[in-house]
Amino acid sequence: MSRQESYDVIVIGAGASGLAAATVLHAAGRDVIALEARDRIGGRLLSVPTSRPERALDLGATWFWDGEERVRTLAARSDIAAFEQHLAGDTMLQETTGIRRLTGNLIDAPSRRFTAGAQSLTTALAAELPTGTLQLDTAVTAIRPSSQGSLDVLTQASTLHAEHVVLAVPPALAQERIGFGDTLPADLVRLAQATPVWMGAAVKVVVRYPTAFWREDGLAGAAFSRTGPLQEIHDMSGPDGEPAALFGFAHARTVRPGFEQAVIAQLARLFGPGAASPDALHVQDWSGERWTAPSTVQRLVDYSLFGHRLYQRPALGGRLHWASTETATEYAGHIEGALAAGERAARAVLAAPSSTNGIALGVTAPTR
Ligand SMILES: Cc1cc2nc3c(=O)[nH]c(=O)nc-3n(C[C@H](O)[C@H](O)[C@H](O)COP(=O)(O)OP(=O)(O)OC[C@H]3O[C@@H](n4cnc5c(N)ncnc54)[C@H](O)[C@@H]3O)c2cc1C
Repeated sequence: MSRQESYDVIVIGAGASGLAAATVLHAAGRDVIALEARDRIGGRLLSVPTSRPERALDLGATWFWDGEERVRTLAARSDIAAFEQHLAGDTMLQETTGIRRLTGNLIDAPSRRFTAGAQSLTTALAAELPTGTLQLDTAVTAIRPSSQGSLDVLTQASTLHAEHVVLAVPPALAQERIGFGDTLPADLVRLAQATPVWMGAAVKVVVRYPTAFWREDGLAGAAFSRTGPLQEIHDMSGPDGEPAALFGFAHARTVRPGFEQAVIAQLARLFGPGAASPDALHVQDWSGERWTAPSTVQRLVDYSLFGHRLYQRPALGGRLHWASTETATEYAGHIEGALAAGERAARAVLAAPSSTNGIALGVTAPTR
């Protein structure tokens, strides 16, 4: 069976940003495919099911906030249920000198979460695309201008061609894993290599319990710790406390044998003996995720590079468009930023001159 090899647009990465771009481009009538390295969509949106149907726990992004209209609109149009983050109760503070209870919730701001998990946003976007648009287990290894003036996109199995490419991968990861030869300008390469991956160095630990017992003690499930292993802890229960769960962030360097026992012991010290017997414990080390974190992830800290002006204009003769939350000029780092960046990239493709859309093709030089 022959396989189509040429497309109007190839989107690289089926996280929130890539899927937002792909849905806009498909709706505008463009022939688009999305290539995804993992065997799943969602990227940094990753929700694990629980025994309660339609209720999942997030190992990646979980909250959204007032003013994030793209997220709100997508959830509304896709019938994705959301609920308020639990806030009521006191905060626990863990220091080397001991544990203190502080009045009120000093950590959590009002926010909302998705009953079925944040990954349901990308499931909903993918459902708007025709069958065959998404190709999983397909890592892009190289992008280069072709002799016909379009772009060649290389995977391990094939070479595809596109008039435009939307690169919806964190820039530092793209720079490390995708070969561009010497086609990109040096300032863009330096920028991409230096741009942090939002939460790419984070370890998220989610601990599920039979009930949200801490609420009965007047605790918010919120804690700060200067000793660890978890440094910041939040209530991550579903609506009405079901499923019941806490989550915390840890440093990747502390994830070693005995880590899970240390987490449970810490939670029991903070929230009482009920915390010593969880139903389940998930450790999601994003810094070890090949398709999220470049090898430099722990060293990338200059967040002022997010939304940099060089990401706002296409490279490679107007054909390579940056997406991913790191390139967003608003809400960078958030799901909202990922959607905004994907939409911006799609709009740029749609507005591109016809010479980059399959008409009067000529070999184009890389832009600076
Ligand atoms: C622990 C954690 C907590 C977070 N909490 C929140 C929160 O509460 N609220 C919030 O708004 N945001 C939060 N975020 C951030 C949010 O998850 C991101 O902003 C958003 O998911 C980024 O989407 P993206 O599409 O830009 O990138 P990604 O989700 O990283 O998607 C990139 C995709 O590209 C794929 N890919 C990579 N390389 C290749 C390749 N070579 N070829 C093909 N495919 C490739 C990846 O597999 C991935 O699917 C959190 C993130 C983490 C990790």
